[in-house]
Amino acid sequence: MRITSIESKLYRVPPTIHLQDSIQRISTWEWVITTIETDAGITGTGWTYTLGMGGSAIREIINSYLAPILIGSDPHDVERIWNRCWHELHANGSGGFTTLAIAPIDIALYDILAKKADVPLYKLLGGFRDSIPAYGSGINMHLDGDPLLEHMNEYIERGFRAVKMKIGRENPEEDVERVASVRKLIGPNIKLLLDANQKWTSGDAVRRLSMLEPYDIFWLEEPIIADDIPGHSRLRQSAKTSIALGETLFTRYQFADYIRADAVDIVQADLPRVGGFTEWMKIAKLAESHHLPVAPHFCMELSVHGLCAVPNGLILEDVQGGSLTELGLLAEPYVVRDGVAVPPERAGHGIVFDEKALAAYEVKGSVTGVVPTRV
Ligand SMILES: [Mg+2]
Repeated sequence: MRITSIESKLYRVPPTIHLQDSIQRISTWEWVITTIETDAGITGTGWTYTLGMGGSAIREIINSYLAPILIGSDPHDVERIWNRCWHELHANGSGGFTTLAIAPIDIALYDILAKKADVPLYKLLGGFRDSIPAYGSGINMHLDGDPLLEHMNEYIERGFRAVKMKIGRENPEEDVERVASVRKLIGPNIKLLLDANQKWTSGDAVRRLSMLEPYDIFWLEEPIIADDIPGHSRLRQSAKTSIALGETLFTRYQFADYIRADAVDIVQADLPRVGGFTEWMKIAKLAESHHLPVAPHFCMELSVHGLCAVPNGLILEDVQGGSLTELGLLAEPYVVRDGVAVPPERAGHGIVFDEKALAAYEVKGSVTGVVPTRV
């Protein structure tokens, strides 16, 4: 089997609801979707995303630079292809745009391999379980009082047994009040996860977390900028709560540094950001070797396969307003029911895009009208 064509397209999709955390407001989702065709008649689809910045660069890296190198390759050679792409791009950075551009290719190749094997992708990758618990994840920093409680209550009514909310207000008392009100609403038996989106210094984080720990926090996510490994080590020495991070790390080397520094409890490697399944599986196994669970960030349609493939899969993130189904991009919806995610049954990753819906969002040339995300 040989690759006969690789084509990537960029789609800029407006959010369906207001999405805001402690550092940014999402005004546009960008999806770069790559289609790989083979001489065996099997086609694979992969994708990557941004929070509105850089999508056209990723499209061009794939179409202009990587695709010509890879035409004629055997899709089975996922390691060879991943490494070839990574070394070609490495002078531009070890991770980030490098891994974001490799991801759709790698994901499409795994889609092809699972289709050829006629199994759902998670079985090809390891097949540890057939379902995984999910949590409702709210990008709800702007909500207080009744609107916040109504939003969190929707997750409970849909059957989720774990929920996440955004924190990181300027006034720490406001975070405490919001968290206390949500804990009171959900009672003692629902897991409550908090996400500060890298807002604090390590000193802030120690102080802020001590104020929040009375509310039985299952994990605190990204308390400090992801580049500060010693800061996370310091926080972990005083924290009783698990520290989750990894959505802003891009290579297995960064995860290895965190693990060596005893600076992380829950590994949240994001499938597109680390370069697809080839790299994600290595990170998951690195974590497993250190008795750490994985709970990948975002992209639940892909993450469900990773989580069901490995023994140390913990929980799936179902981001409010962030699923391909909610954005109206799929031909068949993929949703979490009763708080448990089940991978699609069909061979491959099982996700089929609605080409007509996508076409409305395609940007063929340069991107215009960019809105900054930082608040
Ligand atoms: Mg997060």
